[in-house]
Amino acid sequence: MYADLDENGKKRVKYELPKADMHVHISMAWDDGRFIRAVKKGYTTLGPDFLTNRDNRYFANLSEHHFAYEAARKKAQLTPVGLSDIVQTYLQKIAQQGAIYAEISNSFRSGSDFDWQMEAIAAGIDAANHNTGIESRIVVTTLRDHGHEQAEKAAQHLAKVKYRHVTAFGLVGNEEKDDFYNYAKSFKIAYNDAGLGLAPHVAEQYPANAIGFLDALPKEALNQSHTTDPRRTRAGHATTIHLSSDLMNEFAQNNICIESCISSNNRIGLPQRTLNYNIGDVIGSGADRQFAVDRPLSTYFNDKIEQHPITEFIQRGIPICLGSDNPLLQNTNISKEYSQTLRAGVDQKLLLTFTENAIKFANIDNETRQTLMGKVKEYESRIKGNSPPSATSNGYVHASNFLTHPNR
Ligand SMILES: [Zn+2]
Repeated sequence: MYADLDENGKKRVKYELPKADMHVHISMAWDDGRFIRAVKKGYTTLGPDFLTNRDNRYFANLSEHHFAYEAARKKAQLTPVGLSDIVQTYLQKIAQQGAIYAEISNSFRSGSDFDWQMEAIAAGIDAANHNTGIESRIVVTTLRDHGHEQAEKAAQHLAKVKYRHVTAFGLVGNEEKDDFYNYAKSFKIAYNDAGLGLAPHVAEQYPANAIGFLDALPKEALNQSHTTDPRRTRAGHATTIHLSSDLMNEFAQNNICIESCISSNNRIGLPQRTLNYNIGDVIGSGADRQFAVDRPLSTYFNDKIEQHPITEFIQRGIPICLGSDNPLLQNTNISKEYSQTLRAGVDQKLLLTFTENAIKFANIDNETRQTLMGKVKEYESRIKGNSPPSATSNGYVHASNFLTHPNR
């Protein structure tokens, strides 16, 4: 009911289904045309076969992935016009695919570059909203490779300077470098002083981070989805918590929404420390809480999307929303990510739940939340009433809707 077949005969989620992209790094959301232009101008050390050779967009580990990221980004020297164009182009593209909401992230950096970047991103958001109706907000992230002092500096900066559309604070980067607890102070500043929601990457690569996440965040930031406070807490990826039933149950009890990024998880390998876990081992050490490993490692990262733990998370009652992560590097977009969940074994009846969770856990004012939820409910009632809409929530129509061929 929510999916049909694409031109290759693969199941594709319908354009009309309202969608939300809750985890996307905007600096790697370039479309293929922009990438080719960057190759021509020598702005990237990657070649055009990065797009055409399938293996180039699979990464043995996170550092190889970061290397590709830097190779694409470093010499690009994006201008305000370039960055606002990337934001607008990506948001408009996903709006045509049915997206009604996105939370896009940009990393904090010191100095005046950050000010113009935030203004450019906000301009892209406003333009896409004007043209398509898509709503978007910004997550400012900080890189773990730069340490916790830099994270605190970022949070303090956001407490002092208010940027348009910034509603959340996040953390990215090497999860093995240090301890999640080290960032407790930065989350406290971001939540209490800057008034932001929290959306860090958690246990994407290394499960012990999930324990730090549960214990280091301000307690009031957990279990938030039903409060009138518009701020929300989400966990980016959290894929490796599938090793422990107790850890997954802890996420469910605390009502922590996971941003699942299936293509990204499929394309980036795991570190040796995580690969070495066996049933009976313990996650966490020293003074940390400890969780027993009672489930085998799923090898979803090895081109086996069907092994992604998303169905396990859903069964345990963890709210899930979806993200495209780095669309250029992982050859994806949010519509594809909704379709990937079908390959991972999700029942198509649950597809709309991803959008419902996204809106419930969006870092957005409650009035806009209600409007967006109205679009989800409207679609649901049209489906239930057997009168499916022929356009997306924001009125975009696709040629396939006009096809009368029976195999449509
Ligand atoms: Zn990410």
